[in-house]
Amino acid sequence: METKEVVSRPKKRIFIALVSVAIFVAALVCYGLWQIMRPGLAEISTVLPKILGMVIIVLIVGLSAGVVGIVLAILGIPTLHFFYRWAWHVINFLFHPATFIGGMVHIPKEIIEQSFIAVNNHLVLKQHIKVPAERILILTPHCIQKDTCVFKVTRNINNCHQCGGCGVGSLLGLSHKYGLHVVISTGGTLARQAVRQARPKAIVAVACENDLTSGIQDVFPLPVLGVLNERPNGPCFNTRADMTKVEDAIRTFLINPDSYEDKNDKSNH
Ligand code: SF4
Repeated sequence: METKEVVSRPKKRIFIALVSVAIFVAALVCYGLWQIMRPGLAEISTVLPKILGMVIIVLIVGLSAGVVGIVLAILGIPTLHFFYRWAWHVINFLFHPATFIGGMVHIPKEIIEQSFIAVNNHLVLKQHIKVPAERILILTPHCIQKDTCVFKVTRNINNCHQCGGCGVGSLLGLSHKYGLHVVISTGGTLARQAVRQARPKAIVAVACENDLTSGIQDVFPLPVLGVLNERPNGPCFNTRADMTKVEDAIRTFLINPDSYEDKNDKSNH
């Protein structure tokens, strides 16, 4: 099954541009600080300004290499696996400075977050992470459940009767098909608790821009593929998710995804 749909296409360049500006600003600030500190350091020892200068150069070159890694990954240019991993560290490290700069030039927060999620997904996909099904966790907020449903799926998703009224039934179906954990969480604290308990090696998260970005940051360096939910009834109410994208993301992490089709085919006969 094709996995590219997990990544939303047009928005990655926004976050890359913001991260690049953040590095440029960091370089200017570091240079200014170095100039201010240089005379004092030279009085202690003549080598200290050089050492500090080298540390700053290594830092800026390292961060810039991360941005180059992102660009190469997005252009589809094959490079060392290490480069993708480093790029992934850099985008998480520079997330807050990049959103701050984006805010200063009035780019809507939601657009920056969408761009961050797209870049994150791309870099996670490029690392070709494979884990057993039981170490994959699907995490989604409670608002995916139909508001009139009486079943307590936040305690146990198996309480869902799969009536087709909301996405919980489909998630339960995916859980049975692949043998993975699904947690319907009522908040960030409980989501973090669920991650600690399930001890996953990879997460497929379905949520809004804000929850996905904070979730990806919270569990880093655990790999997360984020699938944005749909909010036809407004935020946090009867939300939906494209289950094809969710399943694509799950299959991306599975060691041999096609073997599950075979098992299900056999059990149906
Ligand atoms: S699919 Fe499950 S959670 Fe959703 S409305 Fe039906 S029984 Fe309730």
